[in-house]
Amino acid sequence: MSLPPGTHVIHDAIALPAPHDTVRARAVHRAEYPVVQADSVEEAVKHLRTVISDQRIALVTDGTVAALHGRELRHELHRQGVEATMTSIAPGEESKTMRTAERLLDWLADSRIRRRDLLVAFGGGVVIDTAGWVASVYMRGMPYVNLPTTLLAAVDAALGGKVAVDHPQAKNLIGAFHQPTAVVAATPWLSTLPARHVRAGLAEAVKKGVIASPALFDLIERDLPKILALDPATLHRLVHASATVKCALIDRDPYEEDLRRPLNFGHTIGHAVETVTGYGPVLHGEAVAFGMACAARISLARGWMTGTAHTRLLSVLRQAGLPCRREELPAPTGTEAVLAALDKIRLIRDGHLRFVLPVDIGVTAITDDVTDDEIRRALTWSPSPHSTQADTATIPARRGGETTAAA
Ligand code: NAD
Repeated sequence: MSLPPGTHVIHDAIALPAPHDTVRARAVHRAEYPVVQADSVEEAVKHLRTVISDQRIALVTDGTVAALHGRELRHELHRQGVEATMTSIAPGEESKTMRTAERLLDWLADSRIRRRDLLVAFGGGVVIDTAGWVASVYMRGMPYVNLPTTLLAAVDAALGGKVAVDHPQAKNLIGAFHQPTAVVAATPWLSTLPARHVRAGLAEAVKKGVIASPALFDLIERDLPKILALDPATLHRLVHASATVKCALIDRDPYEEDLRRPLNFGHTIGHAVETVTGYGPVLHGEAVAFGMACAARISLARGWMTGTAHTRLLSVLRQAGLPCRREELPAPTGTEAVLAALDKIRLIRDGHLRFVLPVDIGVTAITDDVTDDEIRRALTWSPSPHSTQADTATIPARRGGETTAAA
């Protein structure tokens, strides 16, 4: 048979096993992608261009980011020969829903974006989680790139391919793993971030320092004032160091098969706080900070955490202006309501409530035997007027006045 030139011909001859042999399906997928910190929007777009071929670009952002940085990004994309269609969602956690996702799916279908085109998520964790989830299901999965514009997204949400929308029953209940093609953060985008969101993002960086990198924790302790002042070089270093730590942890267990995950430090109580306050009034990073403070108190009371590590952690959280006590959370949070939310998590997880308890900076213990009483005490802890506890302390003098170089 003669086929027209250019026709792609495939020869195949798959052998058949014995009729009763078990047939096995295998689908191994391991992704690798660049994570870049740019110092200008021009540089960010240059990096983005390296992962774009002849694809059409669908840009998803939120109203605030569109107003602050949308025009400059589109101008720079255009200048570098990239045309993009753009849409925005309402800012805030309230948008991380199936309803928003459905609207984005309609928009993609109407824009005639196809499976091999590229979705670009330009925003904080809400845009990144929602757009990433949409990318994971649209035409059974399309490529996407994250351009994080909040500190929280740059140090955490943009990395690892965990994408989700919230459900009234629980946060991130409807989700998937879908790895991005690239992550490109640019320091200038962080320059407009409100102080409260800088602090919330910092909480996720502190978490990584405590669980896995004394060098990152040292960097935060040393450079806290510069981070809070949004010093570009310091932010660059912080994002780079945090991304390094997160990527190293992801590499060990990219699809979270091991349920003993140190990355969940602060998240057990943190998620419960977000649930009982209705996702929004308490920022994710604030809830995680409070969750870390509670876990540290439980660990200290058990005699597991060293006093020095406890003082250092609580001091950093305090000096960053993050909530460490229930009264400092931006919304009322009842103890029994938090315990009830934790019970729900316990039910979802076959009766186990896993806690990551810090032992030292860079050392954690994972346990599921924390009692309701321990949780209650940690939630309701308050310093006595003459307390010398770390909750009211300041950063201790560094050993020999020296700090270790950051990773
Ligand atoms: P967010 O996306 O809601 O952004 C916070 C606010 O800042 C929004 O109002 C936004 O419009 C605004 N904003 C964004 N960029 C800005 C900028 N450059 N200047 C000024 N304002 C800006 O919140 P977030 O804290 O970035 O992300 C929180 C979400 O991330 C939560 O839903 C959380 O569950 C999720 N998260 C996901 C992961 C993951 O692995 N997928 C990890 C951590 C957190």
